[in-house]
Amino acid sequence: MSGADPGPRRRFEPPVGDSGEPFWAATRDQRFVLPWCRRCGRAHWYPRERCPHCGGMDIDWREAEGRGLVHAVSVMPKPALPMMAEMVPYTVALVELADGPRMMTNIVADDPWAVAVGDPVVLIWEPLSDGRHLPVFRLEG
Ligand SMILES: [Zn+2]
Repeated sequence: MSGADPGPRRRFEPPVGDSGEPFWAATRDQRFVLPWCRRCGRAHWYPRERCPHCGGMDIDWREAEGRGLVHAVSVMPKPALPMMAEMVPYTVALVELADGPRMMTNIVADDPWAVAVGDPVVLIWEPLSDGRHLPVFRLEG
């Protein structure tokens, strides 16, 4: 076995976007933060200018738990995008975070077909080529 770090896997890397800047900046230190609305006190995902619950524009970024439950999952036996070819088969899942919002993500598992709705998952970080990290999940335990 080689001890060399293979570096980031080739994969689709999400763009930052205007509202997502604080989120991606925190991932450089592997900190998982979510946008919280100061008006209604709820977290949301994805980042945007207005709270999707109440329309408030006073958004705070707070450290989130990084745990959740699988709300929906499917396995991609073929890559949805050519740049995901090295990752097949992989899961695309909607995770209901302990902090409230649901996040579209991947669940990294030895057997992707074993991931089921309701499974508890915890956050792990996948390095991206530009120093950011992508939050993905693995089964808890
Ligand atoms: Zn709100």
